[in-house]
Amino acid sequence: MASPTLALPQSFTPGTDSVFSDLSGFYSLDSNVPGLSKVILDKLNMKDYGDYRAAVEGKIKGISFRNYKEMFQRLEDTFKFCTGCNKLPKHLTEGNTLKRCVKCLNVYYCTKDCQTQDWPQHKKVCKTLRLVAVDRLVEWLMFTGDLPFPTEKWSMSPADVKSWDDWLSMQVDLAKHLDKVMSGSSMATLWKNVSRPKPDDEDLRKSLWRIQSEFLSRVLTVGTAIQRFGLDPYVKPLTVHLAGASHSETMGARLTDYDELSHMFPGHQGIEVVMVGPEVVDGPITRPPLRAFGPKQRVYISTYKGLYHQFWEDVVEKEEAAKPDLVITFHPGFHANQGLVEGWLPTLLLLRDYNIPSFLTMFSEMELKYSLQILLELEMHIRESGLNPFASQKPEQVQSSPNKPPVYCNSYYICLQGLLPQEDSHTPGAES
Ligand SMILES: [Zn+2]
Ligand SMILES: [Zn+2]
Repeated sequence: MASPTLALPQSFTPGTDSVFSDLSGFYSLDSNVPGLSKVILDKLNMKDYGDYRAAVEGKIKGISFRNYKEMFQRLEDTFKFCTGCNKLPKHLTEGNTLKRCVKCLNVYYCTKDCQTQDWPQHKKVCKTLRLVAVDRLVEWLMFTGDLPFPTEKWSMSPADVKSWDDWLSMQVDLAKHLDKVMSGSSMATLWKNVSRPKPDDEDLRKSLWRIQSEFLSRVLTVGTAIQRFGLDPYVKPLTVHLAGASHSETMGARLTDYDELSHMFPGHQGIEVVMVGPEVVDGPITRPPLRAFGPKQRVYISTYKGLYHQFWEDVVEKEEAAKPDLVITFHPGFHANQGLVEGWLPTLLLLRDYNIPSFLTMFSEMELKYSLQILLELEMHIRESGLNPFASQKPEQVQSSPNKPPVYCNSYYICLQGLLPQEDSHTPGAES
């Protein structure tokens, strides 16, 4: 087998920690803005990445703020560096502060000159970054429980729901649900404590929708994958593994997070979603996978904290968990460097050799291209790839490079199963 390295971007050295951890990603912030990772740790009262990770895993009560104002301020501080020359506040001369772009209220500059020079690049993303800055704050409503808002049972067949517009057309009470969040106390608390004016109601409603779409994107992507592989949840219960589930997917996760699948396939035989990854955060969904299938017409979420191939050896092979009908990985990111490719290798080979229907998502076309190259070198049989109709609608800033085009979660997908078939050895054109 050829080495799956190719000409991949080698922008940072992978960490010595678990290859799935985002340690390397975290410190890679520094390759664009030297010192940014330190600013983030300082602002959040942490000494190193270990602390940061322990905090996101809920092991230490590391993040404690005196009040909401301080919390929002410190989070905003992690975005404060000059977009033109990458200077951090501590690099400025006495009495000078970074000034914010008045249009997006998202990026900062050390001087007017830096801003003027940066404008040709920044103007391409300034409008979108305005949305990013609003969403970053409104996202807090996911933690307060105001979001996600309730959704309807599907009135259309899943095969006919091909886009967000189709999905939205079934949400008869959407306006009512959004109004409830708009007039809630969390929304008021938010705008009382942040350092930017409250956007108008229409903008806020759109922001609420974008954030909800990011949450739903994962669930609808699972539903899409079920259909692409022709799996039928009415014939038998389905087991779906989410390999490499991240801390952001599991932090604050609730038992109801995948219930949209029951709206999509009403009356199904039961669907289990097992979230597997070393970064899985403890919470209400922390419970062992089912051995035999559980409740019909319900979605059951369980977790395993560890690498996927370990989960397979220690649990699935010992028949302590059901074999998967489908394995999904949101943003495996193995295109980013060789360390990550090596980390994913045992899992990818396992999926290939056990012929498991697998579905991967990517943030961008570039990521899709590199990922396809790697998978082809591993002789994996790619069935389909392309744009995901249920990509998140929430733009995401590349934190340390704000002028890069924002990306959207689950934008692209790859559907694969088994080993690439051997090509026929007969020479084309031999017939006459
Ligand atoms: Zn500057
Ligand atoms: Zn701007």
